[in-house]
Amino acid sequence: MSESAKWKGGRGAGGPGLRVGHGYDLHRMEPAAPAGAGRALRLGGVCFPGDSGPVGHSDADVLLHAITDALLGAIGLPDIGQMFPDTDPRWRDADSALFVREAMARVREAGWEVLNLDATVVAQHPKIGPRKAELRAALARILGVDDARINVKGKTHEGVDAVGEGRAIEAHAVVLLAHA
Ligand SMILES: [Zn+2]
Repeated sequence: MSESAKWKGGRGAGGPGLRVGHGYDLHRMEPAAPAGAGRALRLGGVCFPGDSGPVGHSDADVLLHAITDALLGAIGLPDIGQMFPDTDPRWRDADSALFVREAMARVREAGWEVLNLDATVVAQHPKIGPRKAELRAALARILGVDDARINVKGKTHEGVDAVGEGRAIEAHAVVLLAHA
């Protein structure tokens, strides 16, 4: 069996049948149209109304993009930018839940299941805390796993740099997979 077949098969070389994946994403924030190119802000598919929003080819959901990269990374696949290029008109205005669902399909095809996902959104606005439960439920639905396996945190950037000044928004995600 080749190294790559062992990797895809899971426990190859006597490994414990666990894989960790990390994802990170950042989007520039601009005033909402027509003043700027900002889209309606969506995090984990949940809408957060405001005067500014992220710029992007798809719906620019920074949290779902970080999660997609964590899932793809855990099973050794190319990143979101290679699998869903922003030069492809198919992904213009796309609901980013589609990217997560596609990544989850690959995860399941390769024989893995999500043990847990932990994610952090870094933004000066909006506040994530009051809507955590809603975000967890939305992510659980998109991934097709129980809410108990999902955690989401919000942090500010203490007013410094582009994120702290509201000119960008970031998300980090870590996922742990077990061989099903
Ligand atoms: Zn993105």
